[in-house]
Amino acid sequence: MRPTFFQQVNPGIRDLTPYQPGKPIEVLQRELGLKNVTKLASNENPLGCSTKTLAAAEEALKEAFRYPDGSGYALKQALSKHYAIAPESITLGNGSDNILSLLMQTFSQEGDEVVLSQYAFASYVIFAKGFNRKPIVVPAVDYGHDLQAMAKAVTQKTKLIYIANPNNPTGTWNTHRALKDFLDAVPPHIIIVVDEAYFEFVQDPQYPDTLALQSSYPNLVTTRTFSKAYGMAGLRVGYAFSSPEIADYINRVRLPFNVSRIAQAAAVAAIQDQDHVQRTIELNQRGMQQLTDFFHEIGIEYIPSTCNFLTISLGENAQAIYDALLQEGVIVRPLSANDMPQHLRISIGTSEENQHFMKAIKKVLSL
Ligand SMILES: *Cc1c(COP(=O)(O)O)cnc(C)c1O
Repeated sequence: MRPTFFQQVNPGIRDLTPYQPGKPIEVLQRELGLKNVTKLASNENPLGCSTKTLAAAEEALKEAFRYPDGSGYALKQALSKHYAIAPESITLGNGSDNILSLLMQTFSQEGDEVVLSQYAFASYVIFAKGFNRKPIVVPAVDYGHDLQAMAKAVTQKTKLIYIANPNNPTGTWNTHRALKDFLDAVPPHIIIVVDEAYFEFVQDPQYPDTLALQSSYPNLVTTRTFSKAYGMAGLRVGYAFSSPEIADYINRVRLPFNVSRIAQAAAVAAIQDQDHVQRTIELNQRGMQQLTDFFHEIGIEYIPSTCNFLTISLGENAQAIYDALLQEGVIVRPLSANDMPQHLRISIGTSEENQHFMKAIKKVLSL
């Protein structure tokens, strides 16, 4: 007999499919007995984190027996200085995922609607369902967010709107102008969350300045992370910029020690080492060129991306190609969980890692 506690599982959680992370290198090595494995599956920084960041983390490790500073004073000061924004406007999270979830918990109730785009970052739907909110998925245009349609999807029950800019897994983005028009079209009581996890990789001058927009739109929240350009995905640090009032409310439900002492110290050093971020961006630009040239050459379609990944279109065989790439020691990301079963997402690696991938896919496709 099924234990009776099954009946009390939160209905939103009962039929939830968990987030599918990229396959870890160790797992593939164990499964296939391979030594040379390249992981291009989780948009991690191929350079790793900077040596200064590592040194700060090692130093902080000595104090690992002490609780972290729950207020995150030093890290908020460092972010405040770097971005010229008041510390009261900053919230720290265990990754930006943590803050995306806290916002939903704080600003909506059971049955409320949360508007998001088709093909948007998969966590938004998971959070919504887990909290028994209703995700309203607005059809994408050219794989990107259709902000006008998203504004039209707002009802009396809408409490939050999530915009991934740029979006993962499509690499698409919306301009400052488009975002401003959207903010004007949406009632000011609705919380607009702009997830800028790939902020550092975008070079286009038309990319929104959401920090500047916050003075006119106090319902706007920006989230960013140390996981991608800073190469600290394993340390788990993200942050949000918002009005101090929003920060104050999220802070009431935030777990007091959500960012570890090691992670806080590492992040302070990371923000002060912009050279590393610059090297990362340059490496990414070269890798993007290398891979887009390659896809042109072999005739594979991709969605133009401003991020550190490319999503390619492979038709019905995408899953089979993913499996065959694993046999070659290359881990990429299948996207069926994002409603894109015919695509694969390739994170941009070092030149050698990209070459491993290119060689492997040529072999798999018999080119
Ligand atoms: C990676 C990613 C995040 C979350 O990253 P954290 O590691 O939790 O900071 C958030 N949004 C998007 C779109 C991402 O790709």
